[in-house]
Amino acid sequence: MSYSVNRNDRLNVYVEDLTHDGSGVAKVEGYPLFIPGALPGEEVDIQVGKTLKNYGFARLLNITKASPDRVKPPCNVFSQCGGCQMQHLSYEGQLVQKRKTVRDVMDRIAKLPHVPVHPVKGMDDPWRYRNKSQIPFSERDGKVVSGFYKSRTHHIVDTDICLIQSHEADDLMAMLKYELHAIGVDAYDEKTHLGLLRHLIVRTGRTSGEVMVILVTRKKKFTQKDAAIELIKRVVPNVTSIMQNFNTERTNVIFGDETVLLYGKPVIVDSIGNIDFEISARSFYQVNPIQTEVLYGQALEYAQLTGNESVIDAYCGIGTISLFIAQKAKEVYGVEIVPEAIEDAKRNAELNDINNAHFEAGPAEVVIPKWYADGKRFDVLVVDPPRKGCDEELLKTILEYKPKRVVYVSCNPGTLARDLRILEDGGYRTQEVQPVDMFPHSSHVECVAWLEI
Ligand code: SAH
Repeated sequence: MSYSVNRNDRLNVYVEDLTHDGSGVAKVEGYPLFIPGALPGEEVDIQVGKTLKNYGFARLLNITKASPDRVKPPCNVFSQCGGCQMQHLSYEGQLVQKRKTVRDVMDRIAKLPHVPVHPVKGMDDPWRYRNKSQIPFSERDGKVVSGFYKSRTHHIVDTDICLIQSHEADDLMAMLKYELHAIGVDAYDEKTHLGLLRHLIVRTGRTSGEVMVILVTRKKKFTQKDAAIELIKRVVPNVTSIMQNFNTERTNVIFGDETVLLYGKPVIVDSIGNIDFEISARSFYQVNPIQTEVLYGQALEYAQLTGNESVIDAYCGIGTISLFIAQKAKEVYGVEIVPEAIEDAKRNAELNDINNAHFEAGPAEVVIPKWYADGKRFDVLVVDPPRKGCDEELLKTILEYKPKRVVYVSCNPGTLARDLRILEDGGYRTQEVQPVDMFPHSSHVECVAWLEI
């Protein structure tokens, strides 16, 4: 006879596991219940909510035995905001959990239980790490609100402080909110498509200290722009760049097509190792610069370059990894699907006097076979694909030409494990996996895997 779990049942359960998005998991006679806010090892009173065929959800009512790793979330809006998922778990606990996530997919999906997954490389100070904030603004009951969206909604959780963003972003988020009406600007209302300020974007260059502020407005006409510039300069006196982007559409997409300079210069600079990068308003750039250096350092270590190698950097973005490793290799070929990113990569190569990095725009699964067909040969291949992992065609090309070493940088352990299995079946051997924590307090984990054939 099996126990059937019903909606509204009140139970006391033992929490066994944590999902990748930070929900506790308890099993009631084999039936998994997801409990947001509960941690592994805890005993909790719950009320069952929605039940589906194979799993259900429950609300946490009370913790009867707390995990020793439970901490009080330092952020006041943690339970509402969708930005962080794990602030209720100590940072050490988060790192243990993230390693477990990677170990689990390496066992289950990649079927590589013997391959070492090292302890996660975390941050000494896991706060204030983001170099970019995209902050929505709106009107509510005649007042301006700004903050971050509640998980899976467009409801802004109004806040003045976000502990993972820069102090400059905090100050601007709060001051614009309180002074916007005073300079005659309304925030945008999604329902009525009225009001001017849609988003505030703040980008900082960690090594240069430069700050870029982008105001995304509903229309181009911005009669209060001088007052807005003065206000921003008052809040962040060292601001180096103020830009306006206008987005006239009714859309969830943040940016419109056009960006104009309001004050200062149109780029800020940051460096990774000894390479400088110019970042413009729309450029893709890793959001945690301290850990980016750790991540790329790990990729470089696994690449084991002596200076004689030809290297591919697939999914190269603005060429950050390519330029980082170009100094240690004979030549690097970067490929990326977004043409503007390739323009940035070329400009950044020039800026740093790097002549042995070549960039081409296009899908990696098309451009790389073309390079091989043209007779080029490579010793090491670095891939850093988006969440969906490597394209099948690219994996086929790797297995056809078999570069001796593959370094796989991944932001999604699930697709990493899937692709490692395919490469293993084709003859590669995964040597080890090093997870890196790029996003403390979120459920994300980045990995670098090293393979040889
Ligand atoms: N290596 C870079 C960017 C990694 S993000 C860095 O560390 O900064 C993944 C990149 O893959 C994105 O820039 C995305 O535009 C690009 N991309 C997505 N699909 C692609 C494809 N099929 N071929 C080439 N690049 C692709």
